[in-house]
Amino acid sequence: MNAPYELGLPTAAQWINRYASLGEAFYTRLPAQGLPEPRWVATSDAAAHGLGWPRDWWARSDALSVFSGNALWPGMDPLATVYSGHQFGVWAGQLGDGRALLLGEVQTPSGGMEVQLKGSGRTPYSRMGDGRAVLRSSIREFLCSQAMHALGIPTTQALCLVASPLPVLRESVETAAMVTRLAPSFVRFGHFEHFCHHGQPQALRRLADFVIDHHLPECRRQAHPYAALLETVVRRTAEMVAQWQAVGFCHGVMNTDNMSILGLTIDYGPFGFLDAFDPAHVCNHSDTQGRYTYHRQPQIALWNLHALAQALMPLIEDTDLALAALETYRSAYPDALMRLMRAKLGLRTREDSDAELVDAWLTLLARDRVDHTLAWRRLGQFPVDAARGAGPVRDLFIDRAAFDAWAARYRQRLARESSHDGERRAAMDRVNPKYILRNHLAEIAIRQAQAGDDGEVRRLLRVLERPYDEQPENEADAALPPDWAHSIEVSCSS
Ligand code: AMP
Ligand code: MG
Repeated sequence: MNAPYELGLPTAAQWINRYASLGEAFYTRLPAQGLPEPRWVATSDAAAHGLGWPRDWWARSDALSVFSGNALWPGMDPLATVYSGHQFGVWAGQLGDGRALLLGEVQTPSGGMEVQLKGSGRTPYSRMGDGRAVLRSSIREFLCSQAMHALGIPTTQALCLVASPLPVLRESVETAAMVTRLAPSFVRFGHFEHFCHHGQPQALRRLADFVIDHHLPECRRQAHPYAALLETVVRRTAEMVAQWQAVGFCHGVMNTDNMSILGLTIDYGPFGFLDAFDPAHVCNHSDTQGRYTYHRQPQIALWNLHALAQALMPLIEDTDLALAALETYRSAYPDALMRLMRAKLGLRTREDSDAELVDAWLTLLARDRVDHTLAWRRLGQFPVDAARGAGPVRDLFIDRAAFDAWAARYRQRLARESSHDGERRAAMDRVNPKYILRNHLAEIAIRQAQAGDDGEVRRLLRVLERPYDEQPENEADAALPPDWAHSIEVSCSS
């Protein structure tokens, strides 16, 4: 009898683990160290839907055991993968899944989806770590994964979140949790760096072939498949980072081991969304040098792509080919950003001066430290007809004269393409979110969950799953952050 099948969950035969076929050099097979006394904190219907699982999949009697690392469904084949990487610009040597386990892969209508536990205990790659993840950081990863997914930004997803009373020592004693993450592949730049730096060219080639054949098959049809692989990653990474910049997302730890080969946002740690627009914002309290400052993210992504290119050189062989692939970033990133910025401004046509219009707007936001999300959202109500004023966006600025000067330019630009207020607002509301995971919202949910009440995590998840919708009952979640929000410090500790 296979009960998961009755519920629409995969049977033993439907669980596969293609990564395991790579061979022993790539991973270590081992079981999870289960969490004691687990409880469900939250599950994501959207993530379950993507897997083709029924909404009530988690109500199956053994589901909590499986997703707290205490049991396996038939067909699951847990393993921890090895990778290396550059951390804060310095070669860090061997890393790996120090607290994550790949359970296997599920076939979905849109292809294979890997299922991974995070916080599932020590592995051979744990180094000094305890293999655990605390409830605080797990709530942040769970909520942000699904918030980013709903925003339409490429990301790993989170299926469910389980908590346990197990004590875990960080700066203070906290409790353990486990997030189940989903992605077509969890391969990182660091996986390639590992096999290059450890002098294993055959394994490097195997990994590149694996990624091409299973995830980026179009590369195989190119004259130089490995150069095509690099160029594809360059383009996807440029697109991902452009989307981060457009929404005001700071990753916080853009080390090469935290960069996905598929251009997905991965490893949510000390991330943060901008409240007040400050290009020099550093969201990670541990990043004392400001390496991962918001405005440096596009440049850092390119630095990381250079590290990937270096790792792929034994396969690409031709330096000019690798440099040409990297060079695509110089147009792919600004092109992606301008496409997003035009949409955020509600522009349908392209004019050469649009980049200046965007720059001037961002300069205004930065000078007055205007709330990034509110400013973009309210701009949607700006009327073309000057007789009708400027709408609620103007109230956000201290320097009204500077705003008015910019608004006159924007108004002329809109008039030149005969922009219609109602249509433009509808289009802008589909790209300028009303609801983002502000730090203080996560903090409130964390404090309540730490006190045993998970209701706020689940409520916030539902709000963040519809970031572009007006939700009159949740207006408070779209408001300016309270004063205490400025004192929240998010570090690497997780
Ligand atoms: P991160 O900075 O979170 O991306 O982690 C960098 C490396 O440290 C990865 O190899 C992680 O698996 C590992 N790591 C982070 N925290 C822990 C932990 N508590 N226990 C074991 N390994 C960890
Ligand atoms: Mg990481």
